[in-house]
Formats: sequence, C-alpha cells, structure tokens
Amino acid sequence: MKNKTNILLIYTGGTIGMVKDYKTGALKAFDFDELVKNIPELKQLDCNLKGVSFEDPIDSSNMNPSYWIKIASMIEENYQNYDGFVVLHGSDTMSYSASALSFMLENLEKPVIFTGSQLPIGDLRTDAKENLITSIEIAALRENGEPVVKEVGLYFEYKLYRANRTTKINAEHFEAFASLNYPPLIESGVHLKVHYNYLLKKKSKTKGLQVHKTLDDRVAILTLFPGLNKNVLRSTLNIPDLKALILETYGAGNAPMDDWFLNELKIAKEKGLHIINVTQCSGGSVFMGHYETSEKLKEMQLVNGKDITTEAAVTKAMYLLGTRVADKLFKTIFETSLRGEMV
Ligand code: ASP
Repeated sequence: MKNKTNILLIYTGGTIGMVKDYKTGALKAFDFDELVKNIPELKQLDCNLKGVSFEDPIDSSNMNPSYWIKIASMIEENYQNYDGFVVLHGSDTMSYSASALSFMLENLEKPVIFTGSQLPIGDLRTDAKENLITSIEIAALRENGEPVVKEVGLYFEYKLYRANRTTKINAEHFEAFASLNYPPLIESGVHLKVHYNYLLKKKSKTKGLQVHKTLDDRVAILTLFPGLNKNVLRSTLNIPDLKALILETYGAGNAPMDDWFLNELKIAKEKGLHIINVTQCSGGSVFMGHYETSEKLKEMQLVNGKDITTEAAVTKAMYLLGTRVADKLFKTIFETSLRGEMV
C-alpha cells in the first residue's frame, strides 16, 4: 500500500448503485461489491481503492443529519490512513449533504469528493462510470507531495465544484448540478484542468482536522411568494423552539413592505429567532438596502445570507447552532465565509 495513493470510497446509496426491482419496476439500492463488479475499469486506476458502505444504502431522499454524522465519522476514523475520500451519494440531496460535511470537517486538508449519477451503473448509457472514475482521479491528485484539493467538492458531468456552492438544477440532464456563484474548481476534458486560484488554500497553522458532530435541526425554510398570508407566516415564525429561519426572499433580498409582514418578522426576531435573508434565485446575491423593499429588513438587522445557497444556509445554521454559538455572535459568524460558501 506504500507509494500509491490510498482512496476510500464511501457508498451511501443513490441511483449510482441501484437496480430495478423486476416486480415493481422501482429502483432500489444494491450492495457495494456489486457496484465495483460493474466497473472493472477501477482496477486500472493507479491507486489503492477500498470501499466502505452504509449497512443499508439509502435513496438520498431519506437523508438526514444522523447520516451526515455517520459519513463524518467514517472520514474521521480513516483520515490518517487515506489520502482522499470519494462519497457516493444520491443526487437528490447531495448538495445538502456535501454542504453539511464541508462545515462539519473543520481544517480539512484532504479531498472529500461527492459524486453520484443520473443513471444506474449497470445501464448502457450510464453517467456513473465517468463520474466515479474521474472523482477518484481527482481525489488522488497530488502535487509536491500534497493533495491538490483540500476541501469538500462535488463532481458531476465533467466538473468539480465547491460542494457548498452547488444546487441540483435538473432531474433529467446528466448535467444535474450548477454552481452559479462560484466557478468550477476542476474541469475534465482530455486533461484535468485545475483552476488553482479557485481552490481553498491550506491554512498556515491549524489544529488539524476537527470533526463537528452536533447538528441542531431546529431550523426551517420559508420561501416567499405573492399571496403568502399572515397565518402561514405567523405559524412558521412561531414553531415552538425554532432557532433559525432561512427566509427565501425575492431577487436581491427583497420582501413585501406590508406592515403586518414586517411586524411579524420583528416580533419573532425580538423573541430571539435568527432570520437569515437568502435569495430564492439560484444565482446572485442578497444586497439589503439596494431596493426600498429590502430597506426595512436591513434596519431590522436580518442576517445577510449574501450569495449563499439555501442548501449551504440551512446546513450552516444547523452547524452553528450545534456549536452553541452565543446568540449575539450568530449574525457575525453566519455572515463570515467559513468554508468558502459565500463572499
Ligand atoms: N433518488 C435518487 C437519490 O437521490 C436520485 C439519484 O441518485 O440521482 O438517491
């Protein structure tokens, strides 16, 4: 095992490893050994591959924070013995999981690459092989004795993105993900083109990998729409014990100017709810105060989500609440980029 790079594959489930149940026609997960058998090309890769799998692989629609803790623990337990990690995951919630892991793995200095596919690995036209093989190659990339990627990435259809910048945009196309506010880190063509300037740099002094395994799920997301009524708003803001609300606003962080709407927000804020202004657009940024329709939100001191995705916002809130950050520091820390998730 000495000179070759050691890569650990973590199989959680998803279409990539599914087969058709002939009785019902529905896709269900099959086991890891079957997956590897379907890609004999893996043997040609110039690295040592080992796989670990969830006991019961899941469709990623069943994903929840307890599974994120499981993935983080698998990485923690194997961190010293492997040079890189590839997490096979369903595409439906991959951006949430990969964002969560980016926050949970503080001072990460090795690649953790999430990937999956739109078609099962056994299908003739599958995208699984390219996604998996290139993810492994990226996880194994080293220069001057150091891994090239030192962060959580998401690889799909020829592009490696910063995971916490991604969002699933298509249930049909092979190009299922987009990262509208941050360019790809690596593009795969005839060669792997690494965009060094966009990669997270190694911090000069760190305490080494710190794995945060406490996530607080007392969070909610409310998307604004014309016609949102008082009862819906009030019920959401008054969910017992709610700690943080991601408010998906319009455009550059705009919301209605009705007194009843603003008052409800104000009351909830005064009671201690952290309200985070995130745009419901897939690209662009919140810019409170740019329009009259966001001036009041600025005055109210809502947390500025800037150009963060909803997936990163909700998992960052779970992570920060889990670290028991003091209420008065929540806004400042949330507005700070911790893992390259926002400007
Ligand atoms: N439903 C599947 C999942 O997310 C879809 C996929 O893997 O692409 O697990």
